[in-house]
Amino acid sequence: MNLQVKRAYNFNAGPSALPLEVLEKAQQELVDFRGTGMSVMELSHRSKDYEVVHNQAIANLKELLSVPDDYEVLFVQGGASLQFSMIPMNFLQPEQKAGYIMTGSWSEKAFKEAKLFGNPYQLVSTKDSNYSRIPKLNEIQHNADDAYLHLTSNNTIFGTGWKEFPTVDVPLFADMSSDILSKPVDVSKFDLIYAGAQKNLGPSGVTVVIIRKDLIEKENQNVPTMLKYSTFAKNNSLYNTPPTFGIYMLGEVLNWVKGIGGVTEIAKRNEEKAKLIYDAIDESNGFYIGHAETDSRSLMNITFRVKGEELEKKFLAEAKQEGFIGVNGHRSVGGCRASVYNAVPYEACKAFSEFMLQFQKVNG
Ligand SMILES: *Cc1c(COP(=O)(O)O)cnc(C)c1O
Repeated sequence: MNLQVKRAYNFNAGPSALPLEVLEKAQQELVDFRGTGMSVMELSHRSKDYEVVHNQAIANLKELLSVPDDYEVLFVQGGASLQFSMIPMNFLQPEQKAGYIMTGSWSEKAFKEAKLFGNPYQLVSTKDSNYSRIPKLNEIQHNADDAYLHLTSNNTIFGTGWKEFPTVDVPLFADMSSDILSKPVDVSKFDLIYAGAQKNLGPSGVTVVIIRKDLIEKENQNVPTMLKYSTFAKNNSLYNTPPTFGIYMLGEVLNWVKGIGGVTEIAKRNEEKAKLIYDAIDESNGFYIGHAETDSRSLMNITFRVKGEELEKKFLAEAKQEGFIGVNGHRSVGGCRASVYNAVPYEACKAFSEFMLQFQKVNG
């Protein structure tokens, strides 16, 4: 590791921190990738050298998430936001219903797109509590003939996350953009999982889709080639030019996760990191006010307010001055948010929690 590098305390919500080791390896390999005399960006996406990178990234993801054999791992573009449309375009017929579980802004955006294609309905919503909680499993009562149910596993903006997923007898789809690979997940509970890479997996530009093979067979035939899942599945996500450099980076992030002990180890670290900051909130006697209900707390995005508007402004200004980047809450909710994705080091969380304690001591 290069000890000269000064790295920021990066709490950005996305794009967000990448592991230093991965950045340094990419830097090393940048101008001459493994003896090719070219960077990864300059390789043909049809070349053997690139194919190794591509297939390794897919294999790593399957291994780390224990993806069963009856699923495909696809690399799509257009972000998680395109999946909001691609899902109903393929799996919701005009007369069909689909249940959307509303837990925040991203669920709302997904729901909005589905209305263009069929009859989605809001199965349950926690909007009346300003999305401060995840519904209880017994609140999830759906119609027997729903085409699918859709949920957002981690609510990046409101700072809530599911601890346990429902078991349902219609296809279950999940937007896991902001917590994929942060802890073990039973992929077999879902028929389709999607995630923009730029939070936990790599740079922006790649969207991972994990989809059951038999679901692909049910897709709508009447959609453009590039919006069909089968186009990606049949061509190993190489029908057209994929975002090759992003996929290379994603593969290296996955190698990094494997190197530190896989998803179980990552989950343990994430618990420890989040605890530092949640403890600072819980032990502040109301000086810091957490947004999420305790049993719905996200391990990735920690949202809170500082008691008093002026004090909150001061807190954010001082945090910035001290080098904590990205701590302002999302423009739609305000307040403060620390995004502590996989690649955010323990030391950064420790430094931030100490800053919180110190700020309270001086201003509380
Ligand atoms: C960031 C995010 C998105 C949007 O992702 P894009 O790749 O920018 O389209 C969607 N859902 C969730 C949960 C997110 O965190």
